[in-house]
Amino acid sequence: MKNMRDKNSTNSGFTCVHCGREVPPAATTARNHCPFCLWSLHVDESVPGDRQSSCHGQMEPAAIFQKRTGWVVIHRCEKCGKEISNKCAADDNFETLLNLTTLQK
Ligand SMILES: [Zn+2]
Ligand SMILES: [Zn+2]
Repeated sequence: MKNMRDKNSTNSGFTCVHCGREVPPAATTARNHCPFCLWSLHVDESVPGDRQSSCHGQMEPAAIFQKRTGWVVIHRCEKCGKEISNKCAADDNFETLLNLTTLQK
């Protein structure tokens, strides 16, 4: 269970390791990937937000799919190969997302 009052501790801005852009904190959700290039960092071990992984490899946006609740992006770690699915944020670059879907065909 996520404690909403706690969100400031995990929901902070960061500089993207992949494209180098400044990423502001998300308004509604804990952000775990870059909204511009959609790359992420392997910091979560088993559940998104646990910050238990010691890998810290770059995670490539490998695929996306649409659920009833919204878009989900699959991140694959370049270093260890682990795949983690993440909900897309409202301000993720939708064009970049769509490019991922076309790559799958
Ligand atoms: Zn980026
Ligand atoms: Zn990893």
